[in-house]
Amino acid sequence: MLNPSKLQAAWHCVLATTLLMLIAALLQAGPASAAENQPMDTHSSGAEIHSAITVPALSINFEQAADKENSALSAWAERTRLDLEANYPLIYAQLVSPRAAHPESIELVFYRREDGSIAYAAGGRIHINCDYVEDHLDDIGMPIHELVHIIQAYSGGDCPGWLTEGIADWVRYFWYEKKTLADYAGHDPGNYDSGYGQSARFLEWLRLNRNPQIVPLLNSALREQSYGPDTIKSLCGADVETLWKDYLDSLAPGA
Ligand SMILES: [Zn+2]
Repeated sequence: MLNPSKLQAAWHCVLATTLLMLIAALLQAGPASAAENQPMDTHSSGAEIHSAITVPALSINFEQAADKENSALSAWAERTRLDLEANYPLIYAQLVSPRAAHPESIELVFYRREDGSIAYAAGGRIHINCDYVEDHLDDIGMPIHELVHIIQAYSGGDCPGWLTEGIADWVRYFWYEKKTLADYAGHDPGNYDSGYGQSARFLEWLRLNRNPQIVPLLNSALREQSYGPDTIKSLCGADVETLWKDYLDSLAPGA
């Protein structure tokens, strides 16, 4: 869920060898994007996985006729539909685990409310506010965040909201948008459990400095209901508070 005014309250949230091969291959495969400055990665392993995963049928549903007739909104919606269609198998393969579900269809529901909301995912649908899109036609990463929620489909067990949102934003910013930690120099780091972009940056630092597969492994633990207080320590060699301190130290001037 994305709602800038309610970041604190907005928590919502094969075989093992084959899985590891898929994860390893997809970590090397870049996103597929309709954006001209982000050509589709043609890494062969990514292409093989792309063809092996059935893409859900993605449809567009405008709740209000006037919005459907809006050419800018309609074009953005179709572009988003195609972009999610292209990236679904790549993201799915990164976040696959034995209990992973696979929807047959995903509906993009375009609603309109002047309540400051942006988008949310629920019940196999991605709901997007036309009121937001009109003013942010260049925000092509937001639907990727919501698509990750559809794929996460965490159910039961210890499932911290900050990790759910942090993983969704990690996929969006660091995989899809190809951001780097340097792009956030000087930004408020928040806390590790702040969620969204701040947790995503911590995950990216962990990926680069402690465990290159931290994101798919955390996702698997969350979905398989094996996540617990010691999961991050077992994956990264130190408790989360120590890791957070190391991360903050890395942000210090001259570090
Ligand atoms: Zn979210």
